[in-house]
Amino acid sequence: MAPGEIHSPANELAIKQFDMAAAKLELDPNVAVRLRRPDRAMIVSVPTRMDDGRVHVFTGYRVQHNDVLGPFKGGIRYHPEVSLGEVSALAMWMTWKCSLVGLPLGGAKGGVACDPAELSRNELQSLTRRYTAEILNFIGPEVDVPAPDLGTNEQVMAWIMDTYSQHKGHAVPEVVTGKPVAIGGTLGRREATGRGVVYTVLEAAKHLGMDLTGCTAAVQGFGNVGSVVTKELAQLGVKVIAVSDRTGGYFDPQGLPVDKLLEVADRNHSLEGFPYGQKISNAELLEVKCDILVPAALEMQITEENAGRLQCRILAEGANGPTTLTADAILAQNNVFVIPDILANAGGVIVSYFEWVQDLQNFFWTEDEVHIKLRDMLTKSFHEVLHMSVKHKVDMRLAALMIGIDRVAKAMLWRGLYA
Ligand code: NAD
Repeated sequence: MAPGEIHSPANELAIKQFDMAAAKLELDPNVAVRLRRPDRAMIVSVPTRMDDGRVHVFTGYRVQHNDVLGPFKGGIRYHPEVSLGEVSALAMWMTWKCSLVGLPLGGAKGGVACDPAELSRNELQSLTRRYTAEILNFIGPEVDVPAPDLGTNEQVMAWIMDTYSQHKGHAVPEVVTGKPVAIGGTLGRREATGRGVVYTVLEAAKHLGMDLTGCTAAVQGFGNVGSVVTKELAQLGVKVIAVSDRTGGYFDPQGLPVDKLLEVADRNHSLEGFPYGQKISNAELLEVKCDILVPAALEMQITEENAGRLQCRILAEGANGPTTLTADAILAQNNVFVIPDILANAGGVIVSYFEWVQDLQNFFWTEDEVHIKLRDMLTKSFHEVLHMSVKHKVDMRLAALMIGIDRVAKAMLWRGLYA
């Protein structure tokens, strides 16, 4: 790695993927050298008063990868493993994702290394407000617009919006997306990522000549993305035979009761103790024989070690970066059709974009309008990626990256930047 690059397995994966696409595109080297690194990477200290009176200093990050197409956009993650490298990788993927689906936005990501499940509501609020204060000069509706990600939700977004608004002296709903509807959020944002994953699965199934009715699915992660994917797949007649969360997984080859899964997750914020199906580990879930596998938790879950044992026909990446490069090669050999993360989970940022547009215009859409526009954009992007994949004889991931990177590179050249 060159000086200035940020070391971590996820970031090295993101950079290697970029290098492969850049080589295939024969990208101008002056552009390529710039795009391998973020525009700005921040580490902030987040002192937080805990309920027992102690002050604990958490570490927070915000990485802004590239804003050539428009303001930075990207989620905020609360998880114990959050690091500068992980956030940098996620920021780079956001740049390609926004560009791939045609949004006038750049890529960013942020996070705080903490375990939100261990924090009280007061602690979570104090941490969020202090983190926002620390990055306040670097975010804003025209600069950088955060959103929810792993471990954060509409309540966290509401606290960010409030902290920013207090500082400005007036309400600024357009500073974050994924807010509650009552303070300028959009209808359909909470379900957007999961719905988007399912829209791309529908297109993949059509392409492969599969009838989804009666197909089976396994879903890793049962949070915002995984729970919605499970619900939407079940509504299409897919039998969901395995699901998991951080506490482990559940498997029933006859199909799990999806309404009960949703009820338990809603009540307990976890699937722990779910009384149906056979208990399995997260690693076992990935290897269950099924038609559709949806990783919707963390990155780097499908590796050289387990890729050969996957038994699915479609791998729809709800999570960001769940598959390593060596795993990609094994999956291709085994004829697994991969819907890459920057396409499969782009529904979240698409509807975040809709929310930002509605806030800027103070004019709000119906839920049907949101769903229809989301489906149109994702379907169009799916077919662009498929076309690129066939035309250049590359896999779907490389095709998606090539489209995303090419648009950013062209914008840089038009603007006269770096070359
Ligand atoms: P979430 O916090 O709502 O849910 C995460 C789920 O993963 C929970 O069920 C949690 O228990 C589970 N989990 C955590 N660690 C796990 C582990 N080691 N093994 C298995 N499960 C584990 O998060 P989310 O918003 O659903 O995000 C999930 C993934 O989707 C992340 O990779 C995120 O970057 C990606 N994503 C989210 C959005 C969005 O709009 N929320 C958009 C695009 C991509």
